[in-house]
Amino acid sequence: MTAPLPFGSTIGIIGGGQLGRMLASSAARLGFRTLVLDPDADCPAAQVANELIRGAYDDAAALRQLADRSDVVTYEFENVPVGPLRALQAAKPIHPPIEALEVAQDRVVEKAFLNGIGIATAPWRAVDDPQELDHALLDLRGDCILKTRRLGYDGKGQATIADGGPHDDVFESLGSVPAILEKKVPFEREISVISARGQDGSFVAFDPAENVHRMGILSRSTVPAKVPQEIAERAVETARAIMDRLGYVGVIGVEFFVGTDGTLLVNEIAPRVHNSGHWTEAACTISQFEQHIRAVAGHTLGPANRHSDCVMENLIGHDVERAEALLTEPDTLVTLYGKREARPGRKMGHVTRLSPRKAI
Ligand code: ADP
Ligand code: MG
Repeated sequence: MTAPLPFGSTIGIIGGGQLGRMLASSAARLGFRTLVLDPDADCPAAQVANELIRGAYDDAAALRQLADRSDVVTYEFENVPVGPLRALQAAKPIHPPIEALEVAQDRVVEKAFLNGIGIATAPWRAVDDPQELDHALLDLRGDCILKTRRLGYDGKGQATIADGGPHDDVFESLGSVPAILEKKVPFEREISVISARGQDGSFVAFDPAENVHRMGILSRSTVPAKVPQEIAERAVETARAIMDRLGYVGVIGVEFFVGTDGTLLVNEIAPRVHNSGHWTEAACTISQFEQHIRAVAGHTLGPANRHSDCVMENLIGHDVERAEALLTEPDTLVTLYGKREARPGRKMGHVTRLSPRKAI
C-alpha cells in the first residue's frame, strides 16, 4: 500500500458525465484538483473540474497526457477501452483495477466471473449467431432477454423474447454482434449495493437501495429497501466477495434481483459510482462520491451510515422542468447536471427526498 495522496494532488477522471461531475465536486471539497478527459468541452464534469483534456476515451495521446498530469487516474464509466488504459498503468496508478473493467465490459465474462466465484446469476448462454440463439432458447426455456455482450446501458442493446415466440430477426435487430441470452427472472424487487474498498482492503457498504426501472432506465431508488435483514446482509457480503476477488479500490455498484422465494441473483456490476447511490449525498455524511475519492487517493474510508430514510428520483428528459417547483419542497436535495438540452431518456438531474429514519 502506498502513502495517501497529499491533499492538493490531482485526480484524473476519464469521462465527463454527471458521475464525473459529482466526483469532481467531492474531490474539490477535500482539496484535490481534478482533470477530466472527455470529447465534449461543455460536458457536465468540465463545468466543475479544474481542467479538461478534450479527447476521445481511446485517444492514446490524450490518455497519456491525463496520466502525466494526474497523480492517480480513475474513470466514471465502464466502457473505457482497456488496451490504451493498460499502457498507462506503468506511469500512474489506475483505480478501480483494469480487471474490474474487463469483467464489467462484457456480459459473458461478467456472468462467468460471478458464477466462477460461486455467485448466482440468471441462467445464461453466450450467443454468437442465430443458430446459437435457437439452441440457447431451447436450453433455457421460458421468457428470455437477448443482450449485446458489450456497450449496453440504460436498457439499450436488449430485446425480450417471449416463451416460444418469434425470434428470427432478434439477433440481427441488435446489430448481429456477440450477445448473451438470459432467462428472464421473475423478481419481486431489484436492489443494489453501493460499497467501497480502500487500498488497505478496508470495506464499507451503504444500505441496499430498492430500485425501480422504467423503460430500462433507473427511475427511483428507495432506502431502506423492503427486504429482510438477512437478504440485505447477504447482498453486502456478495459485494464484498466481488471486491476482494478483484483486489478492488474505489466504489462499485452491484445490482441484484430478489426472487419471491428469497433467492438473490446478481444482475450486473458497475465498477464505478452508481446512479442508485446518488441518495448517499443527501442521506449520509460521506457520499459514494467522497468514498470513491478517498479510496482512489489512498485515504481512510468514511462510515457509510445513513441519518435519514430517502427516495431518490431521476429527472429524465423534460422531468427537469419540475426542478424549480422541487426547490420549494422541504428536506429535499435537488441536483442538476448542467446539460443544456433535455432529450427524451437523457438523465438531467435527480432529486432526493429525506424523511426521518425509521427503525427496521
Ligand atoms: P443495463 O446495463 O442497461 O442497466 P441491465 O442488464 O441492468 O442493463 O438491464 C436493465 C433492466 O432490465 C434491469 O434493471 C431489469 O429491470 C431488467 N432486466 C435485465 N435483465 C433481466 C433478467 N435476466 N430478468 C429480468 N429482468 C431483467
Ligand atoms: Mg443495469
